[in-house]
Amino acid sequence: MTANSTDIVIVGAGLSASLAALRLAGATRVLLVDQRPDPLAGHTWSFHADDVDAAQRAWLAPAIRRAWDGQDVRFPGYDRQLRAGYASVDAESLGAALAGLPGVSRLTARVTSIDAGGVVLADGSRIDALAIDARGFAPHPAIQVRFQKFLGQELRLAAPHGLTRPVIMDATVPQQDGYRFFYLLPFDDTRLLIEATYYSDGAALSAADQRAGIADYAADHGWQVDEIEREESGVLPIALRFDADAFWRARPQDIPVIGLRAMRFHPLTGYSLPHAVRSADLIARHWRQGPHALAQALRRDSLAEAKAQGFYRLLSRMLFEAADPDERRHVMQRFYRLPEPLIERLYAGRSTLADKARILTGRPPVPVGRALRCLPETLKVKPA
Ligand SMILES: Cc1cc2nc3c(=O)[nH]c(=O)nc-3n(C[C@H](O)[C@H](O)[C@H](O)COP(=O)(O)OP(=O)(O)OC[C@H]3O[C@@H](n4cnc5c(N)ncnc54)[C@H](O)[C@@H]3O)c2cc1C
Repeated sequence: MTANSTDIVIVGAGLSASLAALRLAGATRVLLVDQRPDPLAGHTWSFHADDVDAAQRAWLAPAIRRAWDGQDVRFPGYDRQLRAGYASVDAESLGAALAGLPGVSRLTARVTSIDAGGVVLADGSRIDALAIDARGFAPHPAIQVRFQKFLGQELRLAAPHGLTRPVIMDATVPQQDGYRFFYLLPFDDTRLLIEATYYSDGAALSAADQRAGIADYAADHGWQVDEIEREESGVLPIALRFDADAFWRARPQDIPVIGLRAMRFHPLTGYSLPHAVRSADLIARHWRQGPHALAQALRRDSLAEAKAQGFYRLLSRMLFEAADPDERRHVMQRFYRLPEPLIERLYAGRSTLADKARILTGRPPVPVGRALRCLPETLKVKPA
């Protein structure tokens, strides 16, 4: 397939574009264009089992590297085993699932403009097709964010580590630069991803310090490292305030947008895989109706979701604005004592009114006056 014989061209070949290609494979021709030759490299994307439904899980399955039956959290006050399943997709498993799929091809090039009829590349050439914008996160005045930042290393250990399930938060470690925890994914008996993670006010992270922190953490657990197989790092946006109407008002009506470029992520966790899965399903349902109809379907879904996510942005404000940086662990420790179905619904973005009341009632782990000041979600956005 040449660049100019495709039905759909997706700009950006990261997570959301790749999942859309996986979903569409066989139904149409899809070209993924990315400025980087290896857009998936250095990523592990995880999700909670309840974040996707059975049909979505079925089409996503070929991209999953490893799934587990439960997950654990650790705080100074207690350890908790959660029964909710967890799964990870990584660059290799997603790349392998995409390789050789019928109708899916790739191009390494920078796109300089996108319109309803196609895209223009940096060399001036044009690709005519239904164009989808999946260029990843870009700051915008309509959204106020803080950061979840991390550096992780996949280690091969000299002996089995003894973990059978992910530890999604080990917060028993000294607190620095906000809420600090380690995240552990046991890919097999001796292969372990250890990520040093922070919920911080600033995006800066010293790689050298995190590498030393991971080495100390491994040593404290008696794990001897044979090899560091790979490293990944990231800074994910955590949303405090988002004026979705202002954001979408300024965007073209006939260019479909997916992924972080459409601000589609969980405001409190920064996870975006379930949102990308949902967008992929919408593309499969609407692409035949043309760019305007598809753009509108995605826009409606994004707006509805952004409105439904207001509670999670409130929790982000509580965490970042009502709690002092070294008190953030307290907030999380209290949350993880709540009933498990409530925790699962929060991750899946499906909290009920009763869940919300339950999370907000009781003796608050943050000063009441500061908590009250966080309630309004006012963000002044200048008209575009
Ligand atoms: C290391 C890491 C781990 C993460 N872990 C998780 C996780 O466990 N679970 C989860 O749900 N989320 C996770 N996230 C967050 C989120 O899922 C990712 O940020 C995700 O990759 C966002 O997908 P996307 O498709 O919107 O953008 P990206 O995957 O960032 O892809 C955007 C792509 O667009 C390309 N691009 C931009 N501009 C142009 C242009 N003009 N021309 C051509 N190409 C262009 C970029 O090169 C990039 O490859 C993680 C993020 C990182 C960085």
